[in-house]
Amino acid sequence: MHASIRRELIDIVGTDGATDRIEDLVAYSYDASPQEHLADIILFPASTKQVSAIMKVADREVIPVTARGSGTNLAGETVPLRGGIVMVLTRMDRILSIDPENLTATVEPGVINYDLQLAAAQVGLMYPPDPASWMVATMGGTVGTNAGGPRTVKYGVTRDYLLGLTVVLADGRVLKIGRGPLRHVAGYDLVHLICGSEGTLGIVTEITVRLIPRPAATRTLRADFDDLEDCGRAVAAIIREGIIPSALELMDQSIIGAVERANRLGLPLDVEGILLMEVDGDPESLDPITERISTVLSANRATKVIVARDAAEAEHIWKARRGAFSAMACLRPNAITEDATVPVTQLATMIRKVNEIAERHNVQIGVLAHAGDGNLHPLILFDQRDRDEVRRVEAASAEIFREALTLGGTLSGEHGIGIEKAQYLSLEFDEVAMGVTRAIKQALDPKGILNPGKFV
Ligand SMILES: Cc1cc2nc3c(=O)[nH]c(=O)nc-3n(C[C@H](O)[C@H](O)[C@H](O)COP(=O)(O)OP(=O)(O)OC[C@H]3O[C@@H](n4cnc5c(N)ncnc54)[C@H](O)[C@@H]3O)c2cc1C
Repeated sequence: MHASIRRELIDIVGTDGATDRIEDLVAYSYDASPQEHLADIILFPASTKQVSAIMKVADREVIPVTARGSGTNLAGETVPLRGGIVMVLTRMDRILSIDPENLTATVEPGVINYDLQLAAAQVGLMYPPDPASWMVATMGGTVGTNAGGPRTVKYGVTRDYLLGLTVVLADGRVLKIGRGPLRHVAGYDLVHLICGSEGTLGIVTEITVRLIPRPAATRTLRADFDDLEDCGRAVAAIIREGIIPSALELMDQSIIGAVERANRLGLPLDVEGILLMEVDGDPESLDPITERISTVLSANRATKVIVARDAAEAEHIWKARRGAFSAMACLRPNAITEDATVPVTQLATMIRKVNEIAERHNVQIGVLAHAGDGNLHPLILFDQRDRDEVRRVEAASAEIFREALTLGGTLSGEHGIGIEKAQYLSLEFDEVAMGVTRAIKQALDPKGILNPGKFV
């Protein structure tokens, strides 16, 4: 990058809002995927005005810009593949308002998801999207990926709660879209177009979301299974019964073992899988629903069902799920988590297919799932330095994607496409859908400076 442009960018954000020291460039060269690439400069804007000024320079000079929150995405979405600017939005971290009467909150993109959860809870409200990474994931990042989480099975994903956005476009213009809590159907739904666009259409600088009343009570259960496919069948049976839990998660034996070794929670090591469940609602509704779930679990060969007696026991059960990724990631030098998703009726079949694929390619795969909505997380462990193992992992991943699509599913139910799945998108999008995608990108970012080299 030419020194005069570098100076111009630093003048916009101030010297404490920019760095191109090599250790910082390295720190921002990767995310939670195994990909990496160095940017030329890292900028930390503090306002929409600064973001807009940066984009005007980037547009004029045709410099790539990669928006970044906490960099926890699992698909290489924040790796600056073509260098240029990494724009980190974490300094814009104010909760601007919480409106308990209209049930909305307006935040800057650097607000951490969990901090919004806490602020909403203080006024008796809830912000449902709850990625397992909620302690670090930013609101901008969750809009960028349209994140979901354990509660998605009942409450939906980020998109379902988005009411309005301020977005800085590729040429620096500021676009304000959405009408807050009002019902409105005017024009194209631009808010939902930006959601999940992985920083390829604009930089989000303000977000208005819908909040909902907190459920009065919750109950947590754990069920153990000797056969992993029974776990999958039990999930489908619970949904078929007309019960929608507020969370319904699955962990297989290898994940249980890793969590137990790391955290000593007293998990059973001799079972093939466990389901972790939460139901919520009025206090008096919880006993009957717990009984109905227990009956379905037993009918599907659960060997044990534990119902948490209080908040501490519930927390203990959920600790297992929250520690799963880090416990697995400790076992080998590299880990990738796929998120192919299938109809819940195909969950048991997909689990079997993943295990067959792991065996056929001699690859270590643990299965974790937001099972209630068919969102599988096959967690693949490997060593990137072993080229043969990398080839086998790639072949196994490709087969997982194909199987999910064959079973009527999707490449990604949660993490997005990024670099990791870019080559597979055409398996799901036909030529017409790819053409429309490219046309949208061309209309909003004709010079291709926003997060280039990714799925578009
Ligand atoms: C242990 C672990 C557990 C996880 N669990 C879940 C889960 O349960 N559910 C789930 O959905 N994901 C999960 N993830 C993935 C990830 O945490 C989420 O996608 C999260 O939303 C990313 O937030 P972030 O702030 O880290 O965003 P980043 O990784 O920094 O960015 C994600 C994408 O959003 C874009 N972006 C960031 N900020 C902006 C902005 N202001 N404007 C425009 N684009 C922007 C980026 O360019 C990128 O494409 C998990 C990841 C890990 C490591």
